[in-house]
Amino acid sequence: MSRKAPSAHHLTAADQPNLWLPYTQMQTAPFPVEAVSTSASRITLADGRELVDGVAAWWTACHGYSHPHIHAALVRQAERMPHVMFGGMVHEPAIRLAARLAAMLPGDLERVFFTDSGSVAMEVAIKMAVQYHINQGTEGRQKILSFRGGYHGDTLGMMSICDPEEGMHSLFAGVLPEQVLADLPVDAASLAQLEALLAERGDSIAAIVTEPLVQGAGGMLFHDPEVLRRLRKLCDRHGTLLILDEIFTGFGRTGTMFACEQAGVVPDIVALSKALTGGTMALAATVARQGVFEAFLSDNAGHALMHGPTFMANPLACAVANASLDLFETEPRLEQVAAIAAQLSRELEPCRTLPGVRDVRVLGAIGVVELETLDNPDALRRAFVERGVWIRPFRNIVYLTPAFTIKPEELTRLTTAIVDVLREAA
Ligand SMILES: *Cc1c(COP(=O)(O)O)cnc(C)c1O
Repeated sequence: MSRKAPSAHHLTAADQPNLWLPYTQMQTAPFPVEAVSTSASRITLADGRELVDGVAAWWTACHGYSHPHIHAALVRQAERMPHVMFGGMVHEPAIRLAARLAAMLPGDLERVFFTDSGSVAMEVAIKMAVQYHINQGTEGRQKILSFRGGYHGDTLGMMSICDPEEGMHSLFAGVLPEQVLADLPVDAASLAQLEALLAERGDSIAAIVTEPLVQGAGGMLFHDPEVLRRLRKLCDRHGTLLILDEIFTGFGRTGTMFACEQAGVVPDIVALSKALTGGTMALAATVARQGVFEAFLSDNAGHALMHGPTFMANPLACAVANASLDLFETEPRLEQVAAIAAQLSRELEPCRTLPGVRDVRVLGAIGVVELETLDNPDALRRAFVERGVWIRPFRNIVYLTPAFTIKPEELTRLTTAIVDVLREAA
């Protein structure tokens, strides 16, 4: 395929000479904006413009950018020890972070395995679940049951448990292992279906996997906490582990520190990442209940968990994550989330009556306007940048996941931009 020579006004992403952008048709996507600095909820671009950030760096920067407490922790750790290997060697930032996570998480989720991205944290969760059964001499539990609308990462293993449309399974048929896909049990019919599926195949399922309360990348789809209680019961009945992917929902985003708290459900394994370091460094954690961990204790060396990313438990990332947890203790984050929820509900409500809008919904610091269709996300994104806001529509939604520290007037700029841009587009 050939590309037309670029004209100055119509540069595309492909005119950036060396970078290959994520989820981007480089030939048609607009030339990317260039960020040069950040502060709180503001991003400054190379051309001097300043944007109010509605996305918080892909749902990670919960304290806003460049928080002084996080910055200080990063600098202190950089001077002392930026990195060491984690094989046979541990360090204080990781020991402390693991202890704090175990104390914060519900139940006996006590064993923390660090990795460097959400996808890999979920890969580890799946490996733990499958090997948990094998180590106990249970045969045939090798399948993972996941749900339509789910998203757990972009690695090949995770693609096999993401919603097949989103993961473009057809393109990779033959590469991906076949797993078991179901509808979330949100009503009597889907619950009956899932019960029937498990009655038939339950003894081949190592784990049931879901994002609790919100399927994020699937389109910010919300479900009731009761759904998680149903899954917990079904897992117990069928001897299957429950893995909750709290990579997006963890650390306050849905209004509680972890989404599973709203259901009173303790998963067997939970995956954390995104806001774990307050959006400053790449870090992830897979946390297992004590009983899962104990299935790996054995005289048999083969019963060990064979996984270990090179940058596992990077001290800089762990120090920054500890600083982020400090801020949850010293600053009123969950109150801020509740205030954001109220403001989002109030200020996005006018969208409901616009033509082409299917739904407006809010949970915690997540505000969603769902459209019938979103034909040109690039044009919308450009319109938002022209209004001085950074909002990145995808699928059929325009959404906000701001920093919890965003000022009310900044949030109003974001919601006003959405109302105005959608009104103009209608
Ligand atoms: C972002 C995300 C992932 C993947 O995390 P990466 O760090 O991008 O690999 C997995 N699960 C959920 C729910 C996510 O939102």
